[in-house]
Amino acid sequence: MGDKEISVYGAHWCPDCRRSKQFLGEHQIPYNWIDIEQDPEAEKFVLEKNKGKRIIPTITFSDGSFLVEPSNAELAAKLGLKTKAARRHYDLIIIGGGPAGLTAAIYTAREAIDTLVIERAAFGGQAAGTEKLDNMPGFPEGVAGIEFSRRLLQQAKSFGVEVLEAQEVRQIQRTDDYKYVETSDGSRYSANALLVAAGSHYKRLHVPGDEDYIGAGVHFCATCDGPFYKGKNVAVVGGGNSAAEESLLLTKFADHVNILVRKGQFKATKIIQESVLSNPKINVRWHTEVKEFIGERSKLTKLRIMNNQTETEEVIAVHGAFIFIGLVPNTEFLKESDVLLDKWGFIVTGHALMHQRERQKGFEKRAPFLLETSVPGVFAAGDVRDTSTKQVVSAAGEGTSAALMIREYLKQV
Ligand SMILES: Cc1cc2nc3c(=O)[nH]c(=O)nc-3n(C[C@H](O)[C@H](O)[C@H](O)COP(=O)(O)OP(=O)(O)OC[C@H]3O[C@@H](n4cnc5c(N)ncnc54)[C@H](O)[C@@H]3O)c2cc1C
Repeated sequence: MGDKEISVYGAHWCPDCRRSKQFLGEHQIPYNWIDIEQDPEAEKFVLEKNKGKRIIPTITFSDGSFLVEPSNAELAAKLGLKTKAARRHYDLIIIGGGPAGLTAAIYTAREAIDTLVIERAAFGGQAAGTEKLDNMPGFPEGVAGIEFSRRLLQQAKSFGVEVLEAQEVRQIQRTDDYKYVETSDGSRYSANALLVAAGSHYKRLHVPGDEDYIGAGVHFCATCDGPFYKGKNVAVVGGGNSAAEESLLLTKFADHVNILVRKGQFKATKIIQESVLSNPKINVRWHTEVKEFIGERSKLTKLRIMNNQTETEEVIAVHGAFIFIGLVPNTEFLKESDVLLDKWGFIVTGHALMHQRERQKGFEKRAPFLLETSVPGVFAAGDVRDTSTKQVVSAAGEGTSAALMIREYLKQV
């Protein structure tokens, strides 16, 4: 059933279905979503596959095989993802396979520095989830984020970079000589240097219902989940570039897009604002905050919103809501380490470290490199770093600079 090679049979109320959908979405693997509660034929199919039991998710593959309630590790294995590294030790381990991490890897591999890149989701990071990159130098027509990411990975692999997929780095440790990373499957790898290129992710609203409907009406990526809303009515929360751009993308699928903006104006660039405001499918509601996500049978159906000037509340019906209210750095795994973070959790590097009251251990005899963290030999690049400019080209540029600094660092150890 459906036109894609993978079909996920499930229901909106099923958390394991949501987890599997999220896993496939994060790895940019196309799939058909079939809600067995809306489709009696599909329900019959699931019962047949499971000897009369209604077990979901039941996931079918083009080779005729199927998995029932698979763990993420089982899904990764079925999809042929590489989840174990060939060796235990590398010159350099890069955490994150976005533009910063993969560009750094291209440079270090070309310098014959043994490099392992560990990625928990889709290679290309946020860029992979972006429909089109219009501001890439050298691409006058723009380039699809997914195509750019595919090329970046291909290029890194062509220079001999080893990559791990579907593995999250859970923590880093160090001794005087080596750095260690521990991955979600419990493996431990060592390196002479680390590069943290873990980027950032979407901020959440933290209002009632926010958690409950993720993947079941609440989304953070229009490219990934917009096609589920053909002919429907969706809300977009946010007033920056992402909210505006993603709203425009959503008009390709949805009939009606309501943008809810907390302030009285957009923060988006003028050219994007003009496209949004002139689009007949888009309606903008200023001074509007979401107070609650409301659903039925575990599927989002309504939003309780408030005008923050008049403090009047209203409940509006929606089929889906897309949240674009900013970024949080992916630095949770560094919380127990000595890597210094700023108050928002972004990594502090280089000169900024010199302004700290205490000289960081290991930097008594030399200053940190520009992209080095407070731990000697641990570097950071891209969106995860404080004061970075949160763009693909600058992330790639920082990856390049970090690679060259790591080369110099490795000469000393
Ligand atoms: C909707 C949207 C539209 C955008 N449009 C543009 C645009 O048009 N032009 C532009 O220049 N920029 C754009 N950007 C910004 C751009 O995508 C980012 O600045 C860029 O991708 C940052 O690259 P990065 O490598 O630093 O981080 P990311 O792209 O965030 O990549 C980091 C990677 O690290 C992985 N990771 C995180 N933690 C771990 C862990 N513990 N273990 C293993 N892996 C981990 C993540 O899964 C991710 O793949 C857009 C971003 C968004 C969200």
